[in-house]
Amino acid sequence: MFEIGSVLFSARQIQSRVRELGEEISRDYAGKELLMVGILKGAAMFMMDLAREIHIPVQMDFMSLSSYGAATESTGTVQTRRDLDADISNRHVLVVEDIVDTGLTLNYLKQSLQLRQPASVKICAFLDKPARRKLELEIEYKGYVVEGDDFLVGYGLDMAEEGRALPYIAAVRR
Ligand code: 5GP
Repeated sequence: MFEIGSVLFSARQIQSRVRELGEEISRDYAGKELLMVGILKGAAMFMMDLAREIHIPVQMDFMSLSSYGAATESTGTVQTRRDLDADISNRHVLVVEDIVDTGLTLNYLKQSLQLRQPASVKICAFLDKPARRKLELEIEYKGYVVEGDDFLVGYGLDMAEEGRALPYIAAVRR
């Protein structure tokens, strides 16, 4: 179990930011077909909300990568637990992620998706926590930048599988 500390983003704030992101993405990809790739499980909630705010035709697929498990630190090794169903060659891929911390996960993923020769690969992360970034990573669309290195829960983010369904994002009390 964990104790909830301060709430960083309310459900209402999240909703309005997701709407803005959806509008931006719709504009940028107008006239193109977009394949949204959600990273399970953390990005599932954001992905579904975002998809409803994108006003061009989208297709959706999911990947599952190794995560921290019960720990709160990235191990540095990333493994694919579940790969895409879709062939992404010549397609416009938008990777949808909950949060970027060290950047190791998405850096690995972006490189491995590039090998499949998509038309483009961009990243949309709801949260960007740059304090612990270990490498440079371009994040084309981001919801919010979070200062500090609090461990966050809610809106898909879990603490050892708990707290994902919270409609807001909060820091875990240390
Ligand atoms: P990175 O590889 O960028 O260090 O880590 C990315 C993944 O770590 C995210 O997809 C998420 O699963 C997890 N993560 C990073 N920071 C947090 C956090 O503050 N809270 C939670 N619940 N997960 C986090």
